[in-house]
Amino acid sequence: MEPNGILIYGELNEDLNVHNVVLELLTKARELKTKIWNQRIMVCIIGKRMNYEPIIQELGNHGANDVVLITDDRLAEYNNNYYGEIFTQIAKKYPPRIILIGATNQGKEIASYTATKLETGLTADCTNLDIGENNLLLSTRPTFGGQLTADILCKTFPQMATVQANTFKATTCENYVNAIFNWIDIDKIENHIEIINKIKKSQNAKDINTAQVIVCGGAGACKDNGFTLIYQLAQKLNGAVAGTREAFEKGYITKSQQIGQTGKTVAPKLYIAVGISGANQHLAGIKNSDKIIAINNDKNAPIFEHADVGIVGDLFKVLPDLIDNIDK
Ligand SMILES: Cc1cc2nc3c(=O)[nH]c(=O)nc-3n(C[C@H](O)[C@H](O)[C@H](O)COP(=O)(O)OP(=O)(O)OC[C@H]3O[C@@H](n4cnc5c(N)ncnc54)[C@H](O)[C@@H]3O)c2cc1C
Repeated sequence: MEPNGILIYGELNEDLNVHNVVLELLTKARELKTKIWNQRIMVCIIGKRMNYEPIIQELGNHGANDVVLITDDRLAEYNNNYYGEIFTQIAKKYPPRIILIGATNQGKEIASYTATKLETGLTADCTNLDIGENNLLLSTRPTFGGQLTADILCKTFPQMATVQANTFKATTCENYVNAIFNWIDIDKIENHIEIINKIKKSQNAKDINTAQVIVCGGAGACKDNGFTLIYQLAQKLNGAVAGTREAFEKGYITKSQQIGQTGKTVAPKLYIAVGISGANQHLAGIKNSDKIIAINNDKNAPIFEHADVGIVGDLFKVLPDLIDNIDK
């Protein structure tokens, strides 16, 4: 069968809603579709048995032509082995020209599994997607440590790309969606994964993907009680705490809180950079922020060139003042 259409991995959140990155990818896929004639957009959903009608409608409202569902109670919990194999089988059954997957933890696993099984290329963490020569997917991503961007044309099918959440904006459209219920023999999938323990995420930890306010700490805050002040400021502003790679490497944040090229791309209304120099690899993750405030004791720090408001000062003096005065 000739490869046709765009297949998107329909990741669900823990609360069983569609992950926003799927809606963002659908919006981009609609744009790509206008440049390659007669292509359909299909979303593949894998999960437990439940009512998927609202999810199918939401996907349709964002441009999905077909939603293929593989449901089984053994799929209630994400398992790379089952999910990766099922997604691969769907990609074989309905061979697409293009596969798009959100660069979430789950998406990264699914993408690498599928690319390996389909023996095709995968461009990870793309910052833009377009259609290039010979109607091939043109994927743009940072390279050489973020100093350059590369346009990559993958010449094997399907052409695969992953994209971080918040890279594109999700928009709705008028559309008719078709649901396809598929059956895959799960008993035939060899499972190599056994879940031996689960650690619950802290209830207080706000997700930086969806936070309206983010207070982000860098190496400057990785001493004394720098991060305690960052948490206090975030709490006052009802915001989320994030950090640079330096902060992650020093153990002040988890990987899921790291912003930047090898972390997350965020799009808050307000982003506050505390003790952050403004390296390109970090800036890559904050360019979609509405307003940026930077606090740094070096007036020449590059972050100030990207900030709407810059405060030159010692964070150990500036933050306590801010925290004390916010309610006043
Ligand atoms: C391939 C690759 C991928 C990368 N991916 C990422 C990524 O995803 N995310 C990321 O963040 N980085 C990433 N990096 C690392 C990046 O290049 C920088 O090293 C990093 O962002 C610097 O972090 P920082 O700003 O916290 O530290 P620094 O560059 O050390 O800056 C610390 C800043 O704090 C200021 N400061 C110090 N003390 C105070 C004080 N008391 N009060 C106020 N200000 C103070 C200093 O003036 C300085 O500007 C990547 C690098 C490579 C090569």
